[in-house]
Amino acid sequence: MTKEKIFSKIIHHQIPANIIYQDELITAFHDILPQAPIHILIIPNILIPTINDITIKHEMILSRMILSAKKIAKKEKIEKSGYRLVINCNDHAGQDIYYLHMHLIGGRPLGPMLQTFSIK
Ligand code: 5GP
Repeated sequence: MTKEKIFSKIIHHQIPANIIYQDELITAFHDILPQAPIHILIIPNILIPTINDITIKHEMILSRMILSAKKIAKKEKIEKSGYRLVINCNDHAGQDIYYLHMHLIGGRPLGPMLQTFSIK
């Protein structure tokens, strides 16, 4: 099974996942390998491979992803301490699963957003 299929199956409750929120547009569930005390993935209910594939017809989905992140952060009590929303796109960003997903990460100081590399 491809990794993209795993996310589709999670949406349809065909494989186990710790789903914390679902509506007609998006699904949110805990990351299987959390990088912080709170690490949740928010994904569309339809397959969109990367952020490059987004068009105007997806604007409701994108706005729902962001609004849900805000609500989940509040529910998880990290809205004041802070959190990070990350969408990786393609190889250089380290996208591993080609099914659009937004990471909601928090619950500890996250440090600088990027490691410092020489541009040479
Ligand atoms: P990416 O590197 O593509 O931005 O992030 C993929 C994320 O999906 C990783 O954080 C990884 O731990 C998570 N992940 C991969 N497979 C599964 C799975 O089967 N279930 C869940 N809940 N998360 C997964």
